[in-house]
Amino acid sequence: MPEIPEMERYRKQLDQLITGERIRSLHVQRESWLNTDLHSLTNGLVGRQILYIERKGTDLILHLDDGRRLVFRVGTGSRMEAVSTLQAVAQGAAGHIEPDEEQQLDVSHAQFAITTDHAQMYIHGARSCQIMWLTAKQVEEMHLEMGPDPLSRYLTAERFAQRFAKRRTTLKSALTNPNIIAGIGSQLADDIAFATGLLPTVRTEKLESEHWNRVFYAMLDVLHIEIEQDGLVNTQTQQHQPETGETTGITIHGKTGEPCPKCGTAIEVTMIQRRPANFCPHCQIDPAADGSEQE
Ligand SMILES: [Zn+2]
Repeated sequence: MPEIPEMERYRKQLDQLITGERIRSLHVQRESWLNTDLHSLTNGLVGRQILYIERKGTDLILHLDDGRRLVFRVGTGSRMEAVSTLQAVAQGAAGHIEPDEEQQLDVSHAQFAITTDHAQMYIHGARSCQIMWLTAKQVEEMHLEMGPDPLSRYLTAERFAQRFAKRRTTLKSALTNPNIIAGIGSQLADDIAFATGLLPTVRTEKLESEHWNRVFYAMLDVLHIEIEQDGLVNTQTQQHQPETGETTGITIHGKTGEPCPKCGTAIEVTMIQRRPANFCPHCQIDPAADGSEQE
């Protein structure tokens, strides 16, 4: 599953290219991804202006000028990209890309594509994807049970801590519970626990407000660093960058046996709810078990 940093990068890229644009055409390879039929979706979308693009957790939401929303919930392997057709034409003139007669890129390879006045967005590589054309109220209802987005401006350290109160689970299970906080997957949860210096297995009911404070700010740090890292897509060349999840010094997820980026100790793995959780046995502690904390 793409995680928040990747979706936030897509949101920023789309925001630059398609906000304010009108939808001119659609390309849909799999109608089963839609919550409606292609005919209704095409009639509903063509001519609509995209007012802005929101992200909630890992959902990407296009706000349309008729009050409706187009929600993308993309699955494993998905890549969303946007390209300016003005740029494509310029590159075509320089001999890099041959635009067709309509001066648009060929989107036939894409699983889903929207062409706007001067840009195209498309999805490819997805094993699963939900594209939902909804009213504002339906989106609200869909997100009713979902916790706040970790980067929401309304989320403070205090409100964050309150969301975990009375939970009796592990830190990692709590962080990846979308009803508590939206959109944190396995990788982010491991990286956040590592940045906090707490084991992913610590019991949430044993943590004090000072710990939640640390988890909150570590979460923001990890998210900002991972969002700002070089993107997975390069709009200049349309070349895919290898998806390594490599973020110097802060990523330990999936690195069992490799040296900890902070201390060099071999990264270990444990299972939490049948899913692997990576941790450094030296840098991360359970404050309830240790009795004393190390810095
Ligand atoms: Zn370490």
